[in-house]
Amino acid sequence: TQWVYTFGDGRAEGQAGMKNLLGGKGANLAEMSNLGLPVPPGFTITTELCTYYYDHGRAYPEELKTQVEKALDFVGKLTGRTFGDPENPLLVSVRSGARASMPGMMDTVLNLGLNDVTVEALARGAGDERFAYDSYRRFITMYSNVVLGIEHHHFEEILDEYKDRKGYSLDTDMTAQDWKAILPRYKALVEKELGKPFPQEPEAQLWGAIGAVFGSWMNNRAIKYRELHGIPASWGTAVNVQAMVFGNMGETSATGVAFTRNPSTGESELYGEFLINAQGEDVVAGIRTPQDITEKARVASGSDKPSMERAMPDAYNELVRIYGILEKHYRDMQDMEFTVETGKLWMLQTRNGKRTAKAALRIAVELASEGLITQEEAVTRVEPAALDQLLHPTIDPKAERKILATGLPASPGAASGAIVFNSDDAEAAKKAGHKVILVRVETSPEDIHGMHAAEGILTTRGGMTSHAAVVARGMGKPCVSGAGQIRVDYATQTLTVAGQTLRKGEIITIDGSNGQVLLGQVKMLEPELSGEFATLMGWADKVRRMKVRANAETPLDAKTARNFGAEGIGLCRTEHMFFEGDRIVAVREMILSDDEAGRRAALSKLLPMQRKDFAELFSIMSGLPVTIRLLDPPLHEFLPHSEEEMQEVAKSMNAPIDKLRHRARELHEFNPMLGFRGCRLAVAYPEIAEMQARAIFEAAVEAGKTTGQPVVPEIMVPLVMTKPELDLVKERIVAMAEAVKAESGVAIEYQVGTMIELPRAALRAGEIAESAEFFSFGTNDLTQTTLGISRDDAASFLGPYTQKGLLPADPFVTIDQEGVGELVKLAVERGKKTRADIKLGICGEHGGDPASIHFCESTGLDYVSCSPYRVPIARLAAAQAAL
Ligand code: PEP
Ligand code: MG
Repeated sequence: TQWVYTFGDGRAEGQAGMKNLLGGKGANLAEMSNLGLPVPPGFTITTELCTYYYDHGRAYPEELKTQVEKALDFVGKLTGRTFGDPENPLLVSVRSGARASMPGMMDTVLNLGLNDVTVEALARGAGDERFAYDSYRRFITMYSNVVLGIEHHHFEEILDEYKDRKGYSLDTDMTAQDWKAILPRYKALVEKELGKPFPQEPEAQLWGAIGAVFGSWMNNRAIKYRELHGIPASWGTAVNVQAMVFGNMGETSATGVAFTRNPSTGESELYGEFLINAQGEDVVAGIRTPQDITEKARVASGSDKPSMERAMPDAYNELVRIYGILEKHYRDMQDMEFTVETGKLWMLQTRNGKRTAKAALRIAVELASEGLITQEEAVTRVEPAALDQLLHPTIDPKAERKILATGLPASPGAASGAIVFNSDDAEAAKKAGHKVILVRVETSPEDIHGMHAAEGILTTRGGMTSHAAVVARGMGKPCVSGAGQIRVDYATQTLTVAGQTLRKGEIITIDGSNGQVLLGQVKMLEPELSGEFATLMGWADKVRRMKVRANAETPLDAKTARNFGAEGIGLCRTEHMFFEGDRIVAVREMILSDDEAGRRAALSKLLPMQRKDFAELFSIMSGLPVTIRLLDPPLHEFLPHSEEEMQEVAKSMNAPIDKLRHRARELHEFNPMLGFRGCRLAVAYPEIAEMQARAIFEAAVEAGKTTGQPVVPEIMVPLVMTKPELDLVKERIVAMAEAVKAESGVAIEYQVGTMIELPRAALRAGEIAESAEFFSFGTNDLTQTTLGISRDDAASFLGPYTQKGLLPADPFVTIDQEGVGELVKLAVERGKKTRADIKLGICGEHGGDPASIHFCESTGLDYVSCSPYRVPIARLAAAQAAL
């Protein structure tokens, strides 16, 4: 088996298509090498080896050693150096590289091959002792941390103590002699912690590092990250060993990260950061604040440090040339890592860059306009769920801003919340129902759970490519990073800025679009959508087959839905209207009535209110289909539950409290979602359905007159299990249509249909379709009834179910295709057999879930219906499903 693939000098054994075997980093290093770009030579040990390693009790195949030696020779020939040679040593970096990028999750070792002898050779070769000893101390710290498991802070403490004694404030104040003086203490520390000296033998160092990278695949951070991102453990990671190039060789050397387009806004410009006289980890760690790459960005940021464009024009021009090549080649925005060694640019990585939803939209639309991709490809380039980010609120420009500090605009959107200083507190507060802003000096992969729980993230250190910034963008959370004016004191749980001290629990607001940190709660505005949004949605609409409707009942929701492009209402839950204003009084009167006459009297009060609601809905949706569902929930939901509420209601209704108590007790159910609800209400109390039908028809007549648009209401009967049930209710609806026609002289076109939300209804869909003109799959109830999991208390055990892999996803979020899905397919098939043109839709929560939308497309549904804010997501997902 070939376990090792080399690259360098304009050729490679691998290429970009081999990500599964070589990992993302390895495949792209090979590809860049094939493209003739300046890539330090090296080799990739495959992900298959990682799998082998874990399958064989952490052991390697015999032939690996010779393959690695051969690859080292190859690299040595290209660099003119020899690994372990005392005179002319080859030094290497060792990095992980999985199939899917897992930023900061696994370990890296730089400057490997240094020891007490080779460090001298490095100094001689570079003519720079300081550089050589700086590299050596970096190597000892990194290797000790990553491979030997000695915590980083031990080394920091030695360094800080030394600097204090010397009166230095920066690492750059350290001279060659200073680094030399530090080294024995570092080595003594290692020996004390480990009981044996720091390994001097380069070969032992290399195998230690390779083992550590493979080992890091199973560290807690990586496991947690895979869990969150659905990456299987079986994929494994590759290991990339590459000749070192040095960004820390003085003022003509540097290291940096650049994007071919702005990952925050999507603007087509070279964008990024670099640090002079530094190595890669300095940029990511946020120890020093990086400099801008372009002069334009420097001017915009107001930085007094020179841009790369000015400081290193040759390397800059080379970067510009390469980024053009890479973007054309990959046909997507690239995220590149580079190092400049004494003026020469080297590429260390390229990959499709992570981006905000806003940037994803702009980049997709612009790449299509530039002819690099087709419109259909552009539609596939934006993840539907990511559109959520665009729908985040922003700060009202008119609101007063009490600015505490300004950091970097790391991830867009604004958020307010109480200050917490660690991730566990963030998680606890979230569980208790509080909104928090996670405030950290910097974040690390250990903070993922806190970042998830927080509304937004604020750090006082680190740039746009720091951990906090990258992760927050991926999560779609607002983030301000590197707000250096703020001092965080974890011990006292306070932050201090501009003479003000704020404690844990005090409210702040962050604006991730401009980097501001504001005192208190600030007024927010609903998001506005960009031109690119409309363009891409237009392209999506051209390719999708399914219609997208919204679940809405209030005028505001209906308007929002239309703004987002809803093509009708797929579910108007009339019960939501029963809670509006003082209607609940009439509803309760109806419930407490002893006989039909009493109920009719109460219902007659509700009639004009419902009519008005429907008329408004019809006029907002002018001409578009509106599906109105008859009353569904069990009646006890409208009654007070606690004794206090009961007293209050009895008093305000002037009704005897005993009677109220008695009735509430009578209606009480253990599992109300399977009880006296849905069409069962209409069977027992047909007058309720009659009132609602009258309200709908009268509103349709009215709306038809005022808007001039004929409305075709779709009246939907919930929770049907048999055809006779539906027939009984339908009869009343038809009779009411006739009555309203006789009274108004207007014949109304309408449809009567049913929800399919019980397994029996799905099975008997063939005969139900004789009466139903449409089916709307109520997959919330269909999921609970098919799986036998109550909608209301599933949360307590679904967590372990998905974690243990017993269910692939929460079935209330993503449709259970095998079970619930089979019932849906069956109902579609049987319904169509009876009535070829039966209209088919879905209105459960799954109607807004991209994976479920794919299922709906393949099942041949006519439309999906979801909450207004998810309409854009559904439009895009429906388009992707159709492609
Ligand atoms: C459903 O059951 O899927 C549905 C849409 O109805 P509700 O959520 O109101 O029960
Ligand atoms: Mg339902």
